Amino acid sequence: MIPAAHPLSHPAPSQGGDAPPRWQALWREAVRDPRELLGLLGLDPDALGMSDAAAAQFPLRVPRGFVARMRHGDPADPLLRQVLPLDAEMRPMPGFSLDAVGDGAAKAGHGVIRKYRGRALLIATGSCAINCRYCFRRHFPYAEETAAAAGWREAVAAIAADPDIDEVILSGGDPWSLATPKLAELTDALKGVPQLKRLRVHTRLPVVLPERVDAALTEWLAALPWPVAVVLHANHAREFDAAVDAAMRRLREAGASLLNQAVLLRGVNDSVEALAALSERSYAAGVLPYYLHQLDRVQGAAHFEVADEQALALHRALAARLSGYLVPKLVREVAGDPGKRPL
Ligand code: SF4
Repeated sequence: MIPAAHPLSHPAPSQGGDAPPRWQALWREAVRDPRELLGLLGLDPDALGMSDAAAAQFPLRVPRGFVARMRHGDPADPLLRQVLPLDAEMRPMPGFSLDAVGDGAAKAGHGVIRKYRGRALLIATGSCAINCRYCFRRHFPYAEETAAAAGWREAVAAIAADPDIDEVILSGGDPWSLATPKLAELTDALKGVPQLKRLRVHTRLPVVLPERVDAALTEWLAALPWPVAVVLHANHAREFDAAVDAAMRRLREAGASLLNQAVLLRGVNDSVEALAALSERSYAAGVLPYYLHQLDRVQGAAHFEVADEQALALHRALAARLSGYLVPKLVREVAGDPGKRPL
């Protein structure tokens, strides 16, 4: 998520003098060199259109446990495609911008984005456990716009001052890349906002690094005073494995409702088979399909785009195949709209 050479592009140190939690050690060991990644998969960088320039602009980062779910020797592996920097990212494309969803215009305080009625999105951190090449915030100015940088005070004050906000969405970056004591600092501050009724967390960490769902995190979650929805992000059925299933179980036991939002991505999940398998696999893990997003048109991601006609045809075929509760809503985010726009 954080562009290259950013001071926050490394995990935050653990709090206090104790040994860091295991998930932080695993995060530090993530693969960061595209050549190492391709070497682990037995693939030739020169045959794949791998780009050092794209990696310099937006670095590769992928936890080793996620790499282990990729198919050895398969250059078209759908998990690999989500993380590998390619030449195609460096071609400027008309209609693709640095701020595809109008975050800049929706700023409502330091690290606070206000788009929809009743909800405020808090940019908790710029860090992620994995860098997804299609990320709509791949160019976001985290250095200036992270709520944590001002010790949460400004962001929480902006939320408290607006009586219409009854739901806070922790986003980023990935909010669960923050150490748990840091999360507790934030939610302790939010407890002083009387109108809050719900908390939502947008996170990919339990999917890509399921060890993040440790005892400290679930204890923090279970003790929160609001109902909590955890909106996960998985795009392909093979992102789920036994460790992810166990992490989802721990989150449910801590009282969270689990939803998944996926992005429709060319070469990753643009077939009815892939989308049906994703819905069935996520439901088997206790996660309800929620949104299937049309790609946000961010610079560097054009090669992932699926045309609207094809997206609609896929969605119709999915609805004809699956039970209604397994069919995510097909939506697009349009800057200035009062909610996600159905296709
Ligand atoms: S995990 Fe989410 S925020 Fe982070 S890079 Fe991927 S899409 Fe972007």
